[in-house]
Amino acid sequence: MKVPLILTEFLDRAVRLYGDKEAIYGDTLTLTYNQLNKRVNQLSHGLESIGVQKGDRVAYLAPNTVEMLEGFYGVYQLNAIMVPLNIRLQPNDYVFILNHSESKVLFVDQELYRLIQPIKDQLVTVETIIVHDMDGDTTEIGYDNWLASFPEESFCREEIDEEDVCSLLYTSGTTGDPKGVMLTHRNNYLHALSTMHHLRVSDQDTLIHVLPMFHVNGWGSPFYYTANGAKQLCLRKTTPEVIFQAMEKYKVSIVHMAPTVLNSLMQYYDQYQTKFSHPIRVVIAGSAPPPAFVSKVEAEMGWDFIQVYGMTESSPLSTISQIRSHIQINEKETYRMKAKAGYQMIGSQVKVVDEYGAEVASNSKDIGEVVVRSHGVMKGYWKNEKATAETIRDGWLHTGDMGTVDQYGNIDIVDRKKDIIISGGENISSIEIEGVLYEHPAILEAAVIAVPHEKWGETPHAFIVLKEGMDGVNEKDIIAFTRENMAHFKAITSVTFTNELPKTASGKIQKIHLRNDYWATSG
Ligand code: ATP
Ligand code: MG
Repeated sequence: MKVPLILTEFLDRAVRLYGDKEAIYGDTLTLTYNQLNKRVNQLSHGLESIGVQKGDRVAYLAPNTVEMLEGFYGVYQLNAIMVPLNIRLQPNDYVFILNHSESKVLFVDQELYRLIQPIKDQLVTVETIIVHDMDGDTTEIGYDNWLASFPEESFCREEIDEEDVCSLLYTSGTTGDPKGVMLTHRNNYLHALSTMHHLRVSDQDTLIHVLPMFHVNGWGSPFYYTANGAKQLCLRKTTPEVIFQAMEKYKVSIVHMAPTVLNSLMQYYDQYQTKFSHPIRVVIAGSAPPPAFVSKVEAEMGWDFIQVYGMTESSPLSTISQIRSHIQINEKETYRMKAKAGYQMIGSQVKVVDEYGAEVASNSKDIGEVVVRSHGVMKGYWKNEKATAETIRDGWLHTGDMGTVDQYGNIDIVDRKKDIIISGGENISSIEIEGVLYEHPAILEAAVIAVPHEKWGETPHAFIVLKEGMDGVNEKDIIAFTRENMAHFKAITSVTFTNELPKTASGKIQKIHLRNDYWATSG
């Protein structure tokens, strides 16, 4: 008989093998896996009592908390569908997503309730709102008392089919309106197995959840850390100071983050030179890190650098940069290789194809679209068959990302199709220019977009945040720096200095907003 691949099995395993291990650390709550399981059971009983059934949508609006983590398993035991909401959206976006997903119940963190209160009347399908209350002060149902009123005994689970949808994850909206990605138990079960293998996750690990759990990169990880009985830190605030302190206090061994967050940790490191005696692996997800980050993290900070590539539509991960010990390369090449998206992970097939679908030549400058066929590829976009058919064609997920392949089969993401700058007929990668800009000693953050040019069609324009005390640096210096360090046709031709770059909650720079800013100021 076929054994269904369902996510609740990961918690069962943690309970059986690591039940009495103190493992889940929140800001105010510490739990063993047994205690976590009891709360999960209470949650499932509670959801059942308010009429949640198989396939119903249960939305969550919360930062990384224990309540959020137990939500996954509590909702999945009922075979209901979890809809995690990005905590940095506007009230209108919540109206759109909650109505579009037809969510029946909404759990909301007490600090974020102010975002929901004014739009309550516009929520067409939400029947119950429950507030994760830290001080018992809420006009809605307070979570702690509500949860405590249900039995801790195991919940008699619904029959779950591995192809059942477990979550609707709305994409970051980096390039347009967010779309609801339907991911199944099978998608995430196999994604977890593959990822735990590649990251060598074990019961010796302690993870600090830095990537938000409402975003696919942070959402997938609780499964493979739970399955292995690892310790997990769910802290509401993840400033560089909090992260460094937690790393020392809890002997954190692994942390996943976006390059922009890593950048702020590197600044903190420069200031305080904090070294740890235990080994740390840093997994970079979500966008390409400049190669300079890799050497700094490995050679100076002493952490092991791992890059992964993926997207919401593929659960997310499809490739990982791992150095193969039998390939002899020097240190510089090693760092360059680690800055690439890497080789396809177990269970994923990844190709780079030209516009006719033929694979581009490896070890060449040929650029093509990255396409993925894997266990992780979504069932489709929720209520959007047209977008599903446009994205998954002939069984391959078309990522919209452009890349190259080196002689070892490693994929390098050149840029998003929409972000490539076409200047004088040449394709220029905004990511490559940003990599050069990050080597400038005065630059804290940089993002490059295409702007119109009379002669060349398009030309690269940089948005720059300078480091403190570096205000003396001007546009001319920065243009000259890119001209010295890369082919002249790729060099930027203009700069906007700014105090901050717009980012998604997962730390990605939102170039769509930069383009709007550029047009707003340049007429
Ligand atoms: P939306 O689809 O709503 O515009 P989004 O694409 O930013 O938002 P995600 O699914 O969170 O939403 O992000 C996936 C994208 O992130 C990829 O398609 C790719 O462009 C980028 N990305 C992820 N990992 C990497 C990486 N290692 N290197 C470069 N880019 C990456
Ligand atoms: Mg996308």
